[in-house]
Amino acid sequence: MSNGLHFRPTRAEIDTDALRHNATMARKHAGHCKLMGVIKANGYGHGAVEVAQAINGSVDAYGVAFIDEALKLRDAGFIQPIVLLEGCFSEAELPVCAHYNLQPVVHQQAQLDAILNARLVKPLAVWLKADTGMHRLGFAPEQIEAVSKQLENCPQVGSVTVMTHFANADRHQHPLNERQLDRFNEVCARTTPARTLSAANTAALLSSALDLGDKASQWCRTGIMLYGVDPTKQQEALPLLPAMRLLAPVIAVREVAVGEAVGYGSQWVAERPSRIATLAIGYADGYPRHAPNGTPVWLNGVEVPLAGTVSMDMITVDVTDLEHLEVGDEAELWGPNLAVAKVAEAIGTITYELLTRVSERVPRHYK
Ligand SMILES: *Cc1c(COP(=O)(O)O)cnc(C)c1O
Repeated sequence: MSNGLHFRPTRAEIDTDALRHNATMARKHAGHCKLMGVIKANGYGHGAVEVAQAINGSVDAYGVAFIDEALKLRDAGFIQPIVLLEGCFSEAELPVCAHYNLQPVVHQQAQLDAILNARLVKPLAVWLKADTGMHRLGFAPEQIEAVSKQLENCPQVGSVTVMTHFANADRHQHPLNERQLDRFNEVCARTTPARTLSAANTAALLSSALDLGDKASQWCRTGIMLYGVDPTKQQEALPLLPAMRLLAPVIAVREVAVGEAVGYGSQWVAERPSRIATLAIGYADGYPRHAPNGTPVWLNGVEVPLAGTVSMDMITVDVTDLEHLEVGDEAELWGPNLAVAKVAEAIGTITYELLTRVSERVPRHYK
């Protein structure tokens, strides 16, 4: 399956079995919790519809950032609840949410007012967000009790789930984790005891350091794990499978003499007689322009170093130490042979950014 006709072999292979496997792992970790499969940003670059299909059996709801992403899933025929993690931008979205069973997060006053003033055909399920310390979205903890009462008493609202989001769940020792958890527990203690709760993203779900207490009433919101990455980088690696393999062909090979430079800005200079391979992938495909010399690329069974500035459509790698190489050979930028986490580390970014930035001109091939 590929989206149209493509002669350029550069592509992202998406392993739907890996997605399914990772979702099963997430399901296992979540225990009695309900599980939200977070597939915002086009399923972290893997294709939202295809990911939704693959993880269907393991999740109780999907999570997206905003309404347009949700409507794509409804257009594709998915009927599960979909949570809008940023909530609504305007009151015009509320009737659409009611009609399509989209569940908005309510994180600030204007969103609350819009719901209280709306007249809807069906009541909304809403997610009330508490700001327990990340200071990005959410009502202050001391406001939650009053806001939740307003929502509960509103005929436009069918159910309220109280949620929060951790800023440092991937860092076991970070003192803010405990503080956020304490504040969330206080918030929960002050709202109706039977309230449904949601605190955990992937890192909090996998972290041994965070005790999320009574999980039975909770929702876990898991994204990155579905795609094969453990953001907590624990000693004991989880048996997750990378879902994306990003590939590009070698389109030229040349010898470069000592002292000659490669690429824009002449940022890499040959210190020995060198062989340079040019690959058909660049920053317009989502391979970051700021990737430094030495960033690993997997080619013919070994890792070779990036050599020279990333261009729009191409990169260059030092293949001097490679025994066999021909034009047409394929390099893996990340995937089963080269962990996206390792590449992210070399580039000074995170796996989330690498995966979500693979651009539209890179065809996704599903298997
Ligand atoms: C994106 C997002 C998640 C998923 O985070 P992962 O680290 O990918 O598991 C969970 N909750 C919220 C509010 C998010 O925005």
